[in-house]
Parts: sequence; C-alpha cells; structure tokens
Amino acid sequence: MRLDGINLLACGAVLSSMMFAGEWPVLAECPTNHLFVVGPISTAMVSGIEYTLGTELGFPVAVNRSLLASTSSAAVSPQTLLMAANRNLGDKDFGVVLIDAIEGEPARSFSFACHRTGVVVLERLCSDGEARSSERVLKRARKEALRAAGLALGLEQCPFPLCALNESTTLQELDNKGLSFCPPCIARLMNLQVEKEMLQLSK
Ligand SMILES: [Zn+2]
Repeated sequence: MRLDGINLLACGAVLSSMMFAGEWPVLAECPTNHLFVVGPISTAMVSGIEYTLGTELGFPVAVNRSLLASTSSAAVSPQTLLMAANRNLGDKDFGVVLIDAIEGEPARSFSFACHRTGVVVLERLCSDGEARSSERVLKRARKEALRAAGLALGLEQCPFPLCALNESTTLQELDNKGLSFCPPCIARLMNLQVEKEMLQLSK
C-alpha cells in the first residue's frame, strides 16, 4: 500500500475508530513482583535487586520492608516466612523474600521457592568471608533473587550452568553463572507473560 496523504489519513481514522471501539490492545492488570526485605539489608543491595528483577522479568516490582518487622534480627522458619509472604500477595502476584538467615532449611542452595514466593538467604552468599557490602556479594544476591523470582513466577530450574535459573550449590558455581536467562528460559518467560495476560485485547 502506498502511504500518501490520503492513505495516512485513512489509517489514522481506522486506528481511532478501533481505539474508540475498545479494540486497541491495552495493558491488563499486571502481576506484581513483591520484594520483601526482612532485616537491615542495605539500600544499595535492595535497589540492585529491584533493578535486576524489573529489567530481566518485565513485571513491576514493589519493595516491602514490613513483612516481619518484629523478627528483624532473629532467624525465622521457612514456613513462617512463606506464609507471611503469601498473605501479602494478590491473586496474580508473586514474591521474593530477602532475609539474612533462616532456621532449619538445609544450606544446599542459596535460594528456594514454594508456591508463589522465593527466598534468598543472604548469609549463605558470604559464607566464604566476602564482605556483605562487596560488589561480588551484591552480584550473587542479584543472581539468586532472579532465580527465586523466576521459580516463584512458575519457571523451572534450568540445567544450563550459565543460566540464572540454574541451581548453584557452591559459591564458585554461583560466581560463574550469568545474571540473565538462557534463550530457552527467555522463551518460557515470554510464554508466561502471555499466559498471565500482561498484554491482552480488551473485550
Ligand atoms: Zn535456562
């Protein structure tokens, strides 16, 4: 089609009639990725993780520092933590809890997820003596938060060692893996975004 002045006017008319008729794609109510911060975790770490989750997953991130205000310095059980987090999630939402230490959970991996909530245990990320505020630990936290959020969203663990969804069992494996998903996991994420109706045609 030749886009001369008349055709451009015609296109404009069609587009506006679609918009007025409610047929234009609109952003549906989007699931929120809640980032629950328990205890005195630095603003730099929270902002870094918030940025990573927002850019890699594409869902809005809401930071919440009041999940377990009374237990800020003591370790809590995974059950208490997950129940408290799930109570704060809307129907379509998912969440990640950042916590310094947790009771009972075997320290096999640095993060885990159950139902729609993932948990990242920060003390495990510096068990080699690395300073909590170091760039290296910040990067580890961003990788594990991305993994925990991906699992909470409904993605599965990935066998590819460089993918952020891979389960690292040592700090070296964690340092070696990437801060993003591999192409098959990105494809699965895009399917989930469609499934969760991030973008839909209004009725
Ligand atoms: Zn992957």
